[in-house]
Amino acid sequence: MNTLIDQAYGPEAFRRNGHELIDLLAEHLTAVQAREGAPAIPFASPEEEYAFWQKDYQENKGGSPSELFQAVLDRSVRVQNPRYMGHQISPAAPLAALASLVDGLLNNGMGVYEMGAAGTAIERLVVKMVAGKMGFGEAADGVMTSGGTLANLTALLAARSVKAPASVWRQGHQDKLALLVSEEAHYCVDRAVRIMGWGEGGIIKVPADDQYRMRVDLLEASWQQARAEGKTVIAVVGSACSTSTGSFDDLAAAGQFCEQHGLWFHVDGAHGGALCFSEQHRSLLAGIERADSVAMDFHKMLLTPAVATALIFRNGQDSFRTFSQKAQYLWERETDEEWHNLAKRTFECTKLMMGLKAYTLLRTYGPELWEQYLEKVMNLGRQFAVLALETEGFELAVEPQCNIVCFRYHPDGVEGEALNAFNEAIRQALLEEGRFYIVKTNLRGATYLRVTLSNPLATEADIRELLSSITAKALAIHGFSGAE
Ligand SMILES: *Cc1c(COP(=O)(O)O)cnc(C)c1O
Repeated sequence: MNTLIDQAYGPEAFRRNGHELIDLLAEHLTAVQAREGAPAIPFASPEEEYAFWQKDYQENKGGSPSELFQAVLDRSVRVQNPRYMGHQISPAAPLAALASLVDGLLNNGMGVYEMGAAGTAIERLVVKMVAGKMGFGEAADGVMTSGGTLANLTALLAARSVKAPASVWRQGHQDKLALLVSEEAHYCVDRAVRIMGWGEGGIIKVPADDQYRMRVDLLEASWQQARAEGKTVIAVVGSACSTSTGSFDDLAAAGQFCEQHGLWFHVDGAHGGALCFSEQHRSLLAGIERADSVAMDFHKMLLTPAVATALIFRNGQDSFRTFSQKAQYLWERETDEEWHNLAKRTFECTKLMMGLKAYTLLRTYGPELWEQYLEKVMNLGRQFAVLALETEGFELAVEPQCNIVCFRYHPDGVEGEALNAFNEAIRQALLEEGRFYIVKTNLRGATYLRVTLSNPLATEADIRELLSSITAKALAIHGFSGAE
């Protein structure tokens, strides 16, 4: 007894450490929900942070796990703090975090059915439910995968398999394959195109309008021009919504264009696809049921820990065409369309039991939890826009369509690069103070501050407090730089 192996696997030590951890996490939740006790971001430079952990390992090797966990909580961004308004990720519903713990301990591989029976069936149930909410019929099916980035790549590999003139999987490709996508799309679409070997010419950027939505009226001309250049366009990617400004492309129009021309229609709904669970806001997704494939993250708007992404195919059979590689030791027949051996259809071999996090919420609270959440955060986006416009010095980049808002502080007489530098300085000052966490983005050469209101416990008072905090920083910087 008492070898390290015995210690590491002993159920009693696990029970003790586990109880301590849950207590720690519950206290953390209380503190961050109270806002001021635990600021949104404890800012440290990368070098400071690395030095801290080097020292920690030197000095605290063999120390208690609780001390380690506490240090991690102390030094990490607090997504659970209502004043966290940064990158798009939802504060995980604590119950869903417990599901992650179950996943962690079970460590089912999920690649083949035998290695994750419950997880595999649960995943199917969750995927089918999302497909139904999006308006797809019985034939729809899909998988869960590790993030929107990978889901988009996987969808485009399926598009290539179905639409490319030759079998790229067997022969590689000679054709100049290409797709059409808004200039405002997430960078991962560009990356997917390059990974597939289509090169820079494979991504044809369609200009966006003044609301940052893809100009669907330009699809035809872009397509004609690509053909004249000898390219074989096989797909259009719509954004629901775009990342920077949260703008929803006209999916119905893009879908119709694809039907006319026999193109694959993929919708990147990493952020906004979740609105299929909101009666009030689902109209932003009108036309999504025309898509051949849709990617949707659970970890951005549906309260699960990262990563958990559904990739839905209108025609479930298409999901089997993405990868058709032999791996005899995993499954007997390569061509069988077995829903239950998931790795046939996913990039991953081993993957998380990611359906469980969503299913735990679904089973406990029902989809009504998501509906209430979505209503709440969509309202916060609206409220933010109204309050910013009412406050001296602020302007919006665009009227927000969802819970992503881009805005800036614009003093009279400060323009161009000086205005950009000014807003960057404001954000840096906020970051170092840490009470709020917001990000910035660049829109057509202009720097904007950007918030994603994804914490349903945030209130109007939090928004007002952020705006006055920005005003105070702006005045300090403005006065200091002597600009008028
Ligand atoms: C966040 C986002 C992605 C990337 O998703 P990950 O889950 O972070 O990989 C892709 N597209 C859009 C539109 C997004 O908002």
